[in-house]
Amino acid sequence: MKTFKILNQQTCCDPSTNCCTPESSLPVAIIGAGPIGLAAAAHLAVRKQPFILFEGCEEVGGNIRTWGHVTLFSPWQYNIDSSAKDLLQQADWQEPNGELIPTGQELIDTYLQPLAELEQLKPSIHLNHQVIAITRKYNDKMKSKDRNEQSFLLYIKEKGEIKIVEARAVLDATGTWGNPNPAQGNGVWLPSEQALSENIDYHIPNVTASPSLYANKKSPLSGAGIQPLILYLI
Ligand SMILES: Cc1cc2nc3c(=O)[nH]c(=O)nc-3n(C[C@H](O)[C@H](O)[C@H](O)COP(=O)(O)OP(=O)(O)OC[C@H]3O[C@@H](n4cnc5c(N)ncnc54)[C@H](O)[C@@H]3O)c2cc1C
Repeated sequence: MKTFKILNQQTCCDPSTNCCTPESSLPVAIIGAGPIGLAAAAHLAVRKQPFILFEGCEEVGGNIRTWGHVTLFSPWQYNIDSSAKDLLQQADWQEPNGELIPTGQELIDTYLQPLAELEQLKPSIHLNHQVIAITRKYNDKMKSKDRNEQSFLLYIKEKGEIKIVEARAVLDATGTWGNPNPAQGNGVWLPSEQALSENIDYHIPNVTASPSLYANKKSPLSGAGIQPLILYLI
């Protein structure tokens, strides 16, 4: 599989050869190494399409790790992508029983991590790479000529450094976990809620692992979705 240079200059030409990368050989950039980003990578690998995947966390499944203690609601058979399964079966992979329901951590250990370790995916996965912005090559606030024809430039933060990577397409697989809704059902963030943000957990805290925070205390649950229900059941 082709590897791609990470560019530090906006010319998008290889500084060593002074040659620009032809559009057709640019990679598809995937943002996020959750189930969707890794499935996209598997599909591109099967089709022998060049890709490059950026994950902001230090391990794949970064969001799922925060609720690894919670059981999913769908059994294994619905959680494994077809192309990912094809690739995994070519390797020494033990497929889980499709009827069983994994926890988030089991989803990572049994599926996402082995998938990311495959030789068809691993060289193209860049952990600790947070995508902070995406723009189009040769365009700026004053110019948008042939915008749709231009490739993408991704601005990526790694260890405090900003890198720029050129891609022919971008797949945003960053999920919704990092953008929780406010308590107000109409989606409005009120200053009164924001002022209390340090006392509000917008995800699914591992209450049994933090007894001093929750034991013998009353905690109001807000929302009508699945998360308050899961917390109530815990
Ligand atoms: C308790 C619980 C149970 C669930 N059970 C099920 C279930 O049974 N079945 C089901 O289909 N779904 C279930 N879901 C929903 C599940 O979370 C999603 O289906 C799945 O995780 C979505 O995958 P994703 O790849 O789109 O996003 P995520 O899993 O959220 O992955 C996104 C990834 O992108 C990374 N990322 C984010 N921003 C950036 C950035 N700027 N740069 C680089 N990387 C970035 C994150 O670190 C993360 O690794 C459940 C959710 C919860 C909370």
